Amino acid sequence: MPHKPLKLHKSTKFNELGVYQWLASHWPVHVPRGIRLYTFEQIPLYMKENPYITDGYRARLQSKLCLKSIFILSNETVNIWSHLLGFLLFFLLGVNDMCAVLPASGANREDYVIYCIALFCFQVCMLCSVGYHLFSCHLSEKTCRHWLALDYAGISVGILGCYVPGVFYAFYCIAFWRQVYLVTVLALILAVFLAQIHPHYHSREWRHQRTAIFCSVACYGVIPAIHWVWLNGSFSSAVVQLFLPRVMVMYLIAGAAFLFYISKIPECYFPGQLNYVGASHQVWHVLVVFMLYWWHQTSVYLMNFRHSQPCPPLYTSSG
Ligand SMILES: [Zn+2]
Repeated sequence: MPHKPLKLHKSTKFNELGVYQWLASHWPVHVPRGIRLYTFEQIPLYMKENPYITDGYRARLQSKLCLKSIFILSNETVNIWSHLLGFLLFFLLGVNDMCAVLPASGANREDYVIYCIALFCFQVCMLCSVGYHLFSCHLSEKTCRHWLALDYAGISVGILGCYVPGVFYAFYCIAFWRQVYLVTVLALILAVFLAQIHPHYHSREWRHQRTAIFCSVACYGVIPAIHWVWLNGSFSSAVVQLFLPRVMVMYLIAGAAFLFYISKIPECYFPGQLNYVGASHQVWHVLVVFMLYWWHQTSVYLMNFRHSQPCPPLYTSSG
């Protein structure tokens, strides 16, 4: 079926954008009435986050048009669809886990609860992000701020979804430490939620504090990881050699995702050329999906390991 050409608004400077023209000519949908795209200079101040993304902004839209804009090619299209597909991925993984993976590994009720929590958290994280990127062009600044708050809350929920199966299976045989770390992580996430209620939390001035809080919550995982290595008899033990590299890969992906997020690489080197595809936030989105997928697979691996190996007597008695 031939693609319909995208209707371009007169006032947009698309002729300067070769990439956009190519993408637009391959884009299969028309722009709904009432939606046009703006340059960085034309958008309201509260939307100005990244000066290296010079064009392709949706702005000043009513809720209905924000929703309709899911089908147009803007500088948020990849951000929206990457996490919408991420949501679908974790939904299907959940169905597959419940119907095939968990029954095959002889899972008990606790395993089902842990997997439900983790996959639910991942899906919430994805949907909050989709919501933010859809409604970040809303007419009302207050609505945009609320969606931004929900996006941040979604990241916290996603982090919680990583901690729950990680701590549960790492400390499977040591109930005391499992409870300690699960309660501490829950308290940390709750503290972040409470911090988000602060009226200045989502302001531009607080962006460094916000970043610091998320980094602390993510880096907190190093403590139970080191403790887990120590409890298992250091680096020579088989379980540590099996799973530590996977934990390290997880932190490497997280570190890389975070670096793209804060540095605005690569668009800072190519201003205006990566407005639609290839910008740092898109890389961050893809890496977040990959990171959560990687952690889900690690959890399955760890659960199967735990089900196949009985807990040593030393550990079971200490619980
Ligand atoms: Zn995002």
